[in-house]
Amino acid sequence: MKSFFLNLVALFIFCTGWAQVDPSRYGDEISPANLKDQLTILASDALEGRATGSRGQRMAAAFIASHFQEIGLQGPVNGSYFQPVELFSTRQEKVVLKIGDEIVDNELFLYTGMADSQGEKNTSVIFAGQGGDADLAQLAVSGKSVLIWLPSLGSMSGLRSTAERLRAGGADHVFIVLGLSGDDYKGLSFQMRSFVSGGGLSLTPSRNKGVFFINPSVAENMFKMTYAKLVEVAKNEKRAELLKKMKPCAVTYRTQMSVKTVKTDNVLGFLEGTDKKDEVIVITSHYDHIGKKSDGTGDLINNGADDDGSGTVSVLELARVFAKARAEGNGPRRSILFMTVTAEEVGLLGSQYYVEHPVFPLEKTVVNLNMDMVGRWDAEHKGKSDYVYVIGSDRLSSELHEINERNNTLRTRLAFDYTYNDENHPTNLYKRSDHWNFAKNGIPIIFYFDGIHEDYHQPSDEVSKIDFDLMAKRAKAMFFTAWEIANRENRLAVDKK
Ligand SMILES: [Zn+2]
Repeated sequence: MKSFFLNLVALFIFCTGWAQVDPSRYGDEISPANLKDQLTILASDALEGRATGSRGQRMAAAFIASHFQEIGLQGPVNGSYFQPVELFSTRQEKVVLKIGDEIVDNELFLYTGMADSQGEKNTSVIFAGQGGDADLAQLAVSGKSVLIWLPSLGSMSGLRSTAERLRAGGADHVFIVLGLSGDDYKGLSFQMRSFVSGGGLSLTPSRNKGVFFINPSVAENMFKMTYAKLVEVAKNEKRAELLKKMKPCAVTYRTQMSVKTVKTDNVLGFLEGTDKKDEVIVITSHYDHIGKKSDGTGDLINNGADDDGSGTVSVLELARVFAKARAEGNGPRRSILFMTVTAEEVGLLGSQYYVEHPVFPLEKTVVNLNMDMVGRWDAEHKGKSDYVYVIGSDRLSSELHEINERNNTLRTRLAFDYTYNDENHPTNLYKRSDHWNFAKNGIPIIFYFDGIHEDYHQPSDEVSKIDFDLMAKRAKAMFFTAWEIANRENRLAVDKK
């Protein structure tokens, strides 16, 4: 048990250190009215759902940067508030398959990759049964392509690893024929086509080598053998001999891709600390959303008031009160980077870009506090007390968890719900917003979240549905935690892995 004397010493340090300024003086300034003013602009229809790379998103970026400028934050990217992030959208333009000189009907095959063949290429396809290692060992695969028969599709990841294994064994291209009748094949390829045709965004042009899914009739044409016979060979116990005897098929293919560049920005505002300014606290939200719905009638704009307009205006408001504290001589000892990131909805790309090109060294980055959806009630909590889901606080740093808990008990008194912090929770939220890119680099994080509701990723995620009083409380909970981490003597300890 700790002695009374040590308690007295602790109390003395507490009273003479940074705690001289009561953080409530600033925290209590976080205002529901300000949050509402800002969100009414950010989530308005004029910004068209803030899709990554769109003009609506650029308007949002300008709005955020002008706020940072107005409150006196520095632009930390060579004097600018913008960190340019270049993204790529790769799309299938034209895919052609020929058996000998005969062009295969487009409806009868599907290419799942994004690798551009740079013109027509020839390959020789051999039948490799079900593609087992023993089968491959019998065949001279190297430099050739292989066709394998699969009884069913299985999982996409299983399929990918099969294709990788075949390529590791020397196969040039992988062709797959499935145990599907003509109509079932059509249904499946129709569903898959929109998936595989590309158009998604990535940090580097996508060049993944896919597989050719072919209709059973194409396999018949390749090997001059009925589909039933091919299956019989693939299943035969003595298939090694049979496979070796089959003649390869000469195939010509062309996979032509287009790559479009999409320019977007992370928006950063920097508040320099005092005596510990080399250490940085990063406070994030994502300001992009999913844009407009491409079909349907009525309201087509996904306003993203909650997702993540709510987190974004909370960051702006936290920045304002921290800047005010500094203007009054009570600035934080450590520096604070307020960062609204881009391209979260398309795969956490803006935050990934930041950790790969950090403006401040990651070794000096003490913590990341992230808000993604903090303005609503979910069904589990309606009619109960004010709450927020807290995710990740105890994963890397016991101190962080303790600080967040203690400040909440002392000041904001929200019900902290740790449901989604369970490592085995199926939603896996610890890895589903921008904080994850920091956590995977060993930086402690907290993710504040309001839960999943019926307007998630819908045009009905509107400002009118936000509870600004509750949202302000959540922003305050984050503020007090940030204040203590920024001002305490010791850097937050990382004691878990
Ligand atoms: Zn979000």
